[in-house]
Formats: sequence, C-alpha cells, structure tokens
Amino acid sequence: MSQLITTTKSYKRREVRQEKILLIALADLLGKNKIESDKLTAKLENQISQNHHDTRELKQENLILNSFLTFEKQEKYSAKKKYYSVIMLSVIAITVVSGSYSFLFFNMVEEQYMVSSETLSSGYVIQNLRGDTINTWISWRLIPEEVLYVNIINADRYSDEKIRSIKKAIQSEEIIEIDDSLLHKGPKGMTSEYFLGWEGALKAASASPTEFYIPVNFEFIQSTKGEGDITIRLENYVNSDGFTGWTNSIADESNNQILKSQITLFDVDSLTPNQLEIITRHEFGHALGLAHSTAPEDLMFPTIESDFPYISECNVQAIISLYDKGERSEVVCEK
Ligand SMILES: [Zn+2]
Repeated sequence: MSQLITTTKSYKRREVRQEKILLIALADLLGKNKIESDKLTAKLENQISQNHHDTRELKQENLILNSFLTFEKQEKYSAKKKYYSVIMLSVIAITVVSGSYSFLFFNMVEEQYMVSSETLSSGYVIQNLRGDTINTWISWRLIPEEVLYVNIINADRYSDEKIRSIKKAIQSEEIIEIDDSLLHKGPKGMTSEYFLGWEGALKAASASPTEFYIPVNFEFIQSTKGEGDITIRLENYVNSDGFTGWTNSIADESNNQILKSQITLFDVDSLTPNQLEIITRHEFGHALGLAHSTAPEDLMFPTIESDFPYISECNVQAIISLYDKGERSEVVCEK
C-alpha cells in the first residue's frame, strides 16, 4: 500500500514537474512569441511611418509637379501671348510698310504720268453725287478687230497655277454680282455687276459707240525678248522701293496714244496665285490707259484695299470715256 502511495506520489510529482516544464516551455514560447510580436509590431510601425513618409514625399512631389505644370502653362501662355504679339506687330509692320510702298508706287506712277501730261489738255470731268473719280490719260489706237499681243516674260519659271491666275485677270469674261452695301455703294439688296477679267469688261464697254476701237482681243505669247504690245515681266527679286507691281507705257504724246505697255511684277515667288491675279488686274488697267481712282473700294485705287478688287461698272465707264474722247479725263462713278 505504502509502495502504491509512494508510487502514486512520485507519479504526481513527476506530473507536476512535467507540467512545470511545460509551463516554463509555454512561458518561454509565449515570451519568444511576444518578442517576435513586438518585433513585428515595431516592424509594422516602422513600415507605417515609412509609408507616411513616402506619402508625404509623394504629396510634396505632386505639389512641386503641379506648381511646375502651372509655371509651364503660364510660360506657354505668355509664350503664346508673345507669339501673337509678334504676329500682330508683324502684321502692323507689313501693313504700314506695304501701305507706304503702295503709296510710293502711286506717286512714282503719277510722276511718270505727270512728266508727260504737261502738254495735255485739261480734259473733262463728269460730275455726280459721290465725287469719286478715275483718271484716264492715254489709249490704244487700233484698227477694228486688231489683236494686242501680251508677252508673259519668264512664265516658265513659275507654276502653271500662277500663270493661269495672271491670264485669268486678263482673259476672263466671268461676271459676279456683289451687294452694293458691301462696297458702301448703296443699300442692302441692291447689287452691281463686276468683271473678273478685262476681256469681259472691255467687251461690255464695246457695246457703247466710241471714237476709238476698244481692244478686246488679246493673245498670249511667251518670249524672253521684249516682243508684244503689252509685256508682263515676272521677276523674283524684291523691288528696292518695295513695289509689287509697276506699269509704264511708251506713248505718242501728240496723239495720247499708247505704243507699248510694260508691266513688271516683283517678288513673284512670294505672291499667291490670288494676289497675282489682283495685282495683274490693277496693272492691266494702267496698261489699257487708266490711272488711279479716288475711291478706296475701287480696283484702281493706288493701294488695293477692297475685299472685292474686281472690274466695276465705273471702270467700264472710264474705259468708254477714254476710248471715246482719247484724252486726259476724269470719270466720276455713278455709285
Ligand atoms: Zn496703280
């Protein structure tokens, strides 16, 4: 019995010892776990703080980037503003320069006309309401149906499109109708007819009886020599006085008769086909004997200011007067 008790006691002691060992091991494990968990916590905390730091850095970077973008936008905007300012200044400069050039051109042409006009009679003036006039001076003296040969010199240097535009200003018989209000000639709803080319305008003028034959037949020739009745010389250089177009006529002053007209167009490379067409239309008016108009909207105004630089009924009237009287005159437009 006592043996059994002893055995039981020793068993219990062993059990307790084992429990104790287990508890120690558990405590040890728990302690280790705590350390691990503390380490993990510290690590997590560290990571969180690192993340905070990163976030803050990202935020700061973002702010810097934003302010940089704003700055760049402002730069771009001010660059754009500068760019537009430069364009505007250039436009103003070009306008001023071309304005004064045209004015010079006008004076030079007028001077040329004036040199020879001293011996001419004072001519006549048709008066009317508006008071705008077109000067006429000398004219062609042709036999009926006579052809005027137009020689485009250096045509082979330029595109077909440009040459076509030059020819169109002379040969076209196209008529367009434009509302009078657009040219300050009358109320809205009233229209006037305009010619795109001189052949059409001259044929219309021919319907009126005139003392001298109005030229209506033009034939183009191409030669480097100066043959032809009217020469149109195309040049690539910029005229030193800034002219884009120039016309002078060789005249028999005693008869007010044109013997030959010479047109020069400068800086042709820089001119668009449309600009060439408009300038040719103006210069060809001189080649036929017209001087300048006092009406700013007129094709024959010294500077081409009109949005509609076509041959007007008034230009046609000026041709009729010129080829009827054949002397220096002023034709006043009816509208
Ligand atoms: Zn002119």
